[in-house]
Amino acid sequence: MTSPADKDPNKPTNFLRQIIEADLQQGTYAARHWGGSPGDAAHHAAGPADPARVRLRFPPEPNGYLHVGHAKSICLNFGLARDYGGVCHMRFDDTNPEKEEQEYVDSIRESVQWLGYGWTANGTEHLYYASNYFDFMYRAAEYLVEAGHAYVDEQSADDMRANRGDFNTPGKNSPFRDRTPAENLARLRAMKNGELPDGAAVLRAKIDMASPNINLRDPALYRIRRATHHNTGDAWCIYPMYTFAHPIEDALEQITHSICTLEFEDQRPFYDWLLERLAEGKLLAAPPPRQYEFARLNLTYVITSKRKLKQLVDEGHVSGWDDPRMPTIAGLRRRGYTPEAIQLFAERTGASKAGGWIDYSNLDIALRDDLDEKAPRAMAVLDPVKLVITNWDDVMGEGKLDACSAPKHPHHADWGQRHFQIGREVWIERTDYEETPPKGFFRLFPPRQGVDGQMLPGNKVRLKYGHVIECTGANKDADGNVTEVLATIVPDTKSGTPGADSVKVKGVITWVGAADAVPAEIRLYDRLFAVPQPGTGDADFLTELNPNSLKVVTGYVETSLADAKAEDRFQFERHGYFVADRKDQAAGKPVFNRVAGMKDSWGK
Ligand code: ATP
Ligand code: MG
Repeated sequence: MTSPADKDPNKPTNFLRQIIEADLQQGTYAARHWGGSPGDAAHHAAGPADPARVRLRFPPEPNGYLHVGHAKSICLNFGLARDYGGVCHMRFDDTNPEKEEQEYVDSIRESVQWLGYGWTANGTEHLYYASNYFDFMYRAAEYLVEAGHAYVDEQSADDMRANRGDFNTPGKNSPFRDRTPAENLARLRAMKNGELPDGAAVLRAKIDMASPNINLRDPALYRIRRATHHNTGDAWCIYPMYTFAHPIEDALEQITHSICTLEFEDQRPFYDWLLERLAEGKLLAAPPPRQYEFARLNLTYVITSKRKLKQLVDEGHVSGWDDPRMPTIAGLRRRGYTPEAIQLFAERTGASKAGGWIDYSNLDIALRDDLDEKAPRAMAVLDPVKLVITNWDDVMGEGKLDACSAPKHPHHADWGQRHFQIGREVWIERTDYEETPPKGFFRLFPPRQGVDGQMLPGNKVRLKYGHVIECTGANKDADGNVTEVLATIVPDTKSGTPGADSVKVKGVITWVGAADAVPAEIRLYDRLFAVPQPGTGDADFLTELNPNSLKVVTGYVETSLADAKAEDRFQFERHGYFVADRKDQAAGKPVFNRVAGMKDSWGK
């Protein structure tokens, strides 16, 4: 699989690429074996040399829809695997029994695949569920107890918190810390067998209560929690803590480079401690995976907290998880962003150790870079007013329609032409007519008096791909609103005919013929939030919503779009990039979403 970023001359390198390249050069992982599925040291040792040069993983917790930050992580992990002859595992981190739902599992699978990635390699489907590792995790817990590296703590939650200390104060040892391995094993089994109530005890690693890194002050490994798990049902009443489970998941899957966001930097010493202990016990294959952290993506005008996104959906501030204003992958898709544009965006924003905010305009720039070459052109009128060519019948013949054509794409002659008709009446943009033109306005305006009193003719413009017309005035309603713009056709000036250049005009306007235009609902989306860093200040993020994030208009599109299919994308000349809505277009209703304008209007 190649990505558009491979062809991007500006493809940036990043520290993760450098680490992987150094490991490949030094053969750090060259001697690894792969047992054909996740497993312990013996399982992998029995398998052949690993055909994958590196293994990465994308490990979402199935507790919500994926957002643009996850897209970045997906592109990074699957992209690195692709670029270095490796494999990226799709892993559902479903060790927490409380919050997971099948709807989320399905949407996550769909989002990753839509972005252009798959998890089948060398004939194996690398789709894994962390909850399938519960048996091994418990075995690892018993091993740690037996080796004197873990103990069952039965302090109250309050005492445990108080004895942890803080940044300035070392912690205090638990009174249960010096129990013998045999005693601890009996208590761990009592936990597992349901002999203790929820919260009565936890299994803790025995490391160092005085460590300056609070994460090494005997972190919890298992807690008692009577909850039904979607995969394992009621088989367990103890569940592993994330910090214990995650390194083990990586090691069972023979992950080489475990990439996560910076919040986990302080967990790395425990990640290494745990995997070293389990390698000593020959439970897990060596060499162990290594964790690397990069700064999470923060995108201006966007919220990337699953909890807040859920609130927007639950409280009806948006139409659903796939509302085209949502930064979910489902929302970006419905809005009309392409997988390739998101990949380009992810590559260009790189991976770094330094956090910060990425300007939203980068996503639109990537979209334009992708669609400029790929999207067929079309004309559309979004704010229509009728233009009547009053001398049409005399010049062209009564009721006559004249066929016009235009290239589907200016750089792809082989795509052929689009065809449409011009007649006595056409739709134009309301803003293309000005009764009193401001300086520099070259579009339609009526005859007016010059400085020395003589009458100057109305302005001439070309109807793009059609004829030159001269504005003669406008009809208005009782309130002074323009109801029709009036013009006359200048004979023998049609585009592509010998007379086309006989009249020079400064203005060219887009239009669609009243006879064959297709009425369509056009949804003009703007940023969902009115402030660049929503949810970061004291204000409730809901008060930062942009009240004008959606404007729905009824416009007209050219006849070639009559049979547009859901998710077909176009450049509407002058207006930007639009997509036929995934849901409504499929239901037979012509609806186009604006993905992005022709030029950047963000931050202005
Ligand atoms: P949230 O805080 O929105 O719930 P999360 O980090 O808890 O997100 P996970 O399901 O645990 O969500 O994330 C799966 C992967 O996606 C993790 O490896 C995580 O580091 C990565 N990820 C999540 N958010 C971002 C982001 N904003 N930028 C980059 N990577 C991200
Ligand atoms: Mg998480």
